[in-house]
Amino acid sequence: MTPSTLRLVLVATPIGSLGSGRGGGVELTMSSLIQGLLALGHQLVLVAPEGSLLPSGCSEVEMREVVGVDQPSWQHAQPNAPVIIPSDAVLPRLWEHAIELGKSADAVLNFSYDWLPIWLTPRVKPDLFHLISMGGVSRLMQKLIEELSRSHPYRLAFHTHRQASDFALSQDPIVVGNGFDLANYELQIDGGGPLGWAGRVAPEKGLEDAVAVATALGERLLVWGLIEDASYAASVEASVASGTIEWRGFLPTAQFQKQLGVCRVLLNTPKWNEAYGNVVVEALACGVPVVAYDRGGPGELIDSGSTGWLVSPDDVLGLRAAVSRVNEIDRHACRKWVELSASKEVFARRVVKWILSGIEANNSPINSWH
Ligand code: UDP
Repeated sequence: MTPSTLRLVLVATPIGSLGSGRGGGVELTMSSLIQGLLALGHQLVLVAPEGSLLPSGCSEVEMREVVGVDQPSWQHAQPNAPVIIPSDAVLPRLWEHAIELGKSADAVLNFSYDWLPIWLTPRVKPDLFHLISMGGVSRLMQKLIEELSRSHPYRLAFHTHRQASDFALSQDPIVVGNGFDLANYELQIDGGGPLGWAGRVAPEKGLEDAVAVATALGERLLVWGLIEDASYAASVEASVASGTIEWRGFLPTAQFQKQLGVCRVLLNTPKWNEAYGNVVVEALACGVPVVAYDRGGPGELIDSGSTGWLVSPDDVLGLRAAVSRVNEIDRHACRKWVELSASKEVFARRVVKWILSGIEANNSPINSWH
């Protein structure tokens, strides 16, 4: 029998406490999913690194805080790098708790892009589900995810088809998108503002291309986000006339969206196969059109000509030309797209459908995995 109300154990990323910003887009994904799942009446337990903050309005969620050393991200590892689990690491401790709590839950939902939880999946009793947050950034992770896709296809979901295309999967990917609390984003209609860019300041995000567009147009570029790679930030800053970049820092969502909503366009310039691209959807939620490279998640999220413009990857002249056409985009249409496709409610429903399909598959004698 498939339950209608699920009891779920959610396991946070081990890269930093929730609310620190170190987890990148995964933090926002978790917050909106927790809110969305609660609104649907599901019961949640959150296992997260010590110091994590529950999303607002979610104090009823039981949180197990776990002490330990942060896990290094796969994001900047060499493609053939080995698994590293530091001494006193938080990762195995999160999973000790998760497996114990999972024994009395319907499913355990993992948000960390790490070897351990995926490797554990066929080896433990609780049903582990993985929302994969990156593309194939490591060969080892890629192989492991592909193996799991063959033995436990329903246990994997992805944010976009573009992200999933990095993996040789045994069946069509389960794609759940992402979700946002729209009450946190205000539609701003005036489209006459500055150029904006947002994201972790790190080479794979391609800030230098957005800066080149600002320079060519003789405009300033407002930049929001965590400076993850200080030497990269300094080299981008040194490559342009002073004052071109206006560093706004890493702001809480309320302030971030208020400032972002003033922009006439958000430039999104990924150099990697971005799994989703939260900032793209946050801009759209504020009514800000997005001009982006047709690469990774943003290439799938933006409806070129309706919510922004897509240009060929790494084509800076194309970006510049597209910026001159943002006045053709209706800012209401941008917001509307988010309401229909990426609200926290829509996202939570997709995730529940995925987990229920996994539970059903477990119960079917043909697909029995245990
Ligand atoms: N962000 C923020 N404040 C800022 C700038 C960015 O909270 O001033 C958040 C933003 O809401 C988004 C995350 O940083 O959730 C960046 O996520 P994205 O998916 O764009 O990229 P990732 O860092 O996961 O590669």
